[in-house]
Amino acid sequence: MRRVYNFSAGPAVLPEEVLQEAADEMLDYRGSGMSVMEMSHRGEIFDGIIKEAEQDLRDLMHIPDNYKVLFLQGGASQQFAMIPMNLMKNKVADYIVTGQWAKKAYQEAQKYGKANKIASSEDKTFSYIPDCSDLPVSEDADYVYICENNTIYGTKFKELPNTKGKTLVADVSSCFLSEPVDVTKYGIIYGGVQKNIGPAGMVIVIIREDLITEDVLPGTPTMLTYKTHADNNSLYNTPNSYCIYICGKVFKWLKKMGGLEAMKERNEKKAAILYDFLDNSRLFHGTVEKKDRSLMNVPFVTGNKELDAKFVKEAKAAGLENLKGHRSVGGMRASIYNAMPLEGVEALVAFMKKFEEENL
Ligand SMILES: *Cc1c(COP(=O)(O)O)cnc(C)c1O
Repeated sequence: MRRVYNFSAGPAVLPEEVLQEAADEMLDYRGSGMSVMEMSHRGEIFDGIIKEAEQDLRDLMHIPDNYKVLFLQGGASQQFAMIPMNLMKNKVADYIVTGQWAKKAYQEAQKYGKANKIASSEDKTFSYIPDCSDLPVSEDADYVYICENNTIYGTKFKELPNTKGKTLVADVSSCFLSEPVDVTKYGIIYGGVQKNIGPAGMVIVIIREDLITEDVLPGTPTMLTYKTHADNNSLYNTPNSYCIYICGKVFKWLKKMGGLEAMKERNEKKAAILYDFLDNSRLFHGTVEKKDRSLMNVPFVTGNKELDAKFVKEAKAAGLENLKGHRSVGGMRASIYNAMPLEGVEALVAFMKKFEEENL
């Protein structure tokens, strides 16, 4: 068996111990004689799995009691519609557009009410986070929306925007559980789990209870109403049970690693190795403003498309996979999520040094 260093943006690398444990439990989950994939989501065993997963997530993020945790399907993209359908009581929402995912959410919200773009970094290909200390937040805005870590461009909000008292909604898909978070600053925190937590096919929504109401936009489907899922503890219909099981294992792994404070330290250390190299390289350079750099997604270029392609190809042959940048921006991108070991980043930098020597 040969495991590569997988720098994919998502679905992405998972902790090897978690995969091993899941493999060991595949045919007979703890004496049940079944795989978790094969058992009823209403049975006692799965009930234990989902409850424990929720509790471990609550412990990791210190989620207050007045927030619900929902395990939903439809990916992060489904939230682009679900959020306005459930929250747009005044039919007004403000969006800060810092990348393709925020832009998609902004465009989707326009179907349901008046979505205002109150800040954007599109003028410089989303390579920075705009100053959000004094934005023209709408008087009657139902919420202010951000994408906290921009997976494609590699920027991250280091400070949350001043929402002037309005509810903050954040897509944290690519920075979920990468560092400690003050949940009380948000109305909704949500993310697709396939970036930094588990397998594809699920989104976790952490939502303040007062935002869960029956008063949703007319025509909102039952399945797209937060209250449906909150009232049924994410078991209104069959959930993505295997994904919940794997995410639960990742939460346990994170606890064992020392929790989110320890992950932040580890992630900062990993990112610094790569950014320091980029800042001193004569061939490669980073593409975003230093103050806004993500700890999770690191885009970089040589400035020469053919050389970029050669790098991606040779890196793959050396066991460093999925380094090609997003199709919309080109170049390279190394996603160095929680489960990427320090050795993976060191191997990447060593390879980049060698490539630089050979190609300058
Ligand atoms: C990947 C990603 C999405 C889309 O996730 P899906 O689960 O594929 O819908 C949305 N937002 C961000 C920040 C992402 O990184």
